[in-house]
Amino acid sequence: MKDRGYYKKFGGAYLPEILVATFDELVEIFQTAKNDPGFWEEYVEIMSTYSCRPTPITFAQNLTRHFGGARIYVKREDLNHTGAHKANNVIGQGLLVKRMGKTRVIAETGAGQHGVATATMAARFGFKCTIYMGEVDVQRQRPNVFWMERLGAEVITVTEGTRILKDAINESFRDWVTHMDTTHYVLGTACGPHPFPEMVSYFQSIIGQEARKQILEQAGGLPARVYACVGGGSNALGTFNAFLDDPVDLVGVEAGGEGLETGRHACRLSSKDSSIGVAQGYKTYFLQDNDGQMRETHSVAAGLDYVGVSPILAQYAETGRIRFEAATDQEVVDALSLTIQKEGLIPALESAHAFAQAFKEAPAMTPRDIILINQSGRGDKDIFTIADAFADPKWQAFIKEKAEGYHA
Ligand SMILES: *Cc1c(COP(=O)(O)O)cnc(C)c1O
Repeated sequence: MKDRGYYKKFGGAYLPEILVATFDELVEIFQTAKNDPGFWEEYVEIMSTYSCRPTPITFAQNLTRHFGGARIYVKREDLNHTGAHKANNVIGQGLLVKRMGKTRVIAETGAGQHGVATATMAARFGFKCTIYMGEVDVQRQRPNVFWMERLGAEVITVTEGTRILKDAINESFRDWVTHMDTTHYVLGTACGPHPFPEMVSYFQSIIGQEARKQILEQAGGLPARVYACVGGGSNALGTFNAFLDDPVDLVGVEAGGEGLETGRHACRLSSKDSSIGVAQGYKTYFLQDNDGQMRETHSVAAGLDYVGVSPILAQYAETGRIRFEAATDQEVVDALSLTIQKEGLIPALESAHAFAQAFKEAPAMTPRDIILINQSGRGDKDIFTIADAFADPKWQAFIKEKAEGYHA
C-alpha cells in the first residue's frame, strides 16, 4: 500500500492508521472491477441509458469562421445528467459501492454540483446519503441545497473553521472514520489519497475514449490541440488520457482569477505561487505560502477554486507532456459571451476557461489544424455570477431580487 499510487514524486496515500484497511479494501475492489471486462460494460450501459452517453462532439462552425484559423470542435459533457462530467465519476463509484455491499455514501461539496450529482446517484442506487457543505457555501448555493434535500440527502452545514470546502472535506473524513463499515466517501475529483486519483480518472476516461473516435470519424484526423479546464483535474485527465500517446498538444487551463500578478487566482501548475506539499492525504502542488499555510484562492468559477491539484497532472506538468495555462476571469467571461452568441452553446464558467485559452491560440493556426475543447458542463447554474459579470443594471436588479428570494 505504502508505495502504491505514486506518480513520480506525487500522490501516495497519507492516511490515519484507522482508515488504512478501508483504503486497502477500496484498492482491491477497484483493481478487481478494472480487470473485469463486464464491469466497464455495465458502466457504459448505465451511462448510455441514464446519462446521454456517448455525448456528441459539435463542430463550432461559426467560431471557426470568426477566428479564421483552426477548425474548432467541442466535446459535449454538458449533456450529461445533472449537467456536467461529474456524473461519470459518481455513477462509477456507485457501482463500486454496490460491489462492496455498502449502503451509505457521503461527499463534500463546495459549489454544490458534486453534492447534487452524488445525491442523484444515491437516489438511483437506493443508498443513504449525507453531504457536507461549509456554511458559507450553503448560503451561496441555496438551489443546490434544495435539490440535494429533495433527492433524499441529508445536508450537514459545517460551521467549523472558515466554513468552506476544506472544512467540509475534514468533516467528511471524520464521518468516514466512524462509519467505515457501511459508508463510502465519494470523492469528487482526481485528487486525495490513492486510489482516488487513478479511480476517478479511470471513470472520466470515457470522455477521451469517445472523443478520439468521434474526431477521427467527424473531422478526419487527430486534433492538433486538446483543451480542458483544470480544477481538481478530473475532466482534463478524462479527456487527455486517450491522446497521451498521440502527437497531440494537451493544454490544461487553470483559473487565472484577477491575474497572476495579483495573487488572486487558483493556478497551481501555471504560476509560481505554489509548492510541493502533503495535505488532505496526498502529495502535490498546493497554493501555499513559505510556512505551508494554504493561500486563499480566487476564481469566477467555483469549481476551479481549489488549493491542490491532481498528482497525476502534477507529474505531467513536470515531464512537460501537458502544457498548463491560465485564463483570467475577464477572458473567461468574454469567451463565454462569444460562445453563447456565435454557437448557442452555454458552457459552465469552469469550461469557459478551456474555450478562452483555445480562442487565444486558434487564430494563429490553419484550417488544416483541428482543435478539440472539452465543454465539461453547462452554464445554467452560473446565472447569477454571469449576470453580475456582464454588469447589466436592468438584469442585475432582477437577478438580485431572485437571488435574495433563494436566500430568504
Ligand atoms: C466541478 C467542475 C469542474 C472542475 O473539476 P475537475 O475535476 O477539474 O474536472 C470543471 N467543470 C465543471 C462544469 C464542473 O462542474
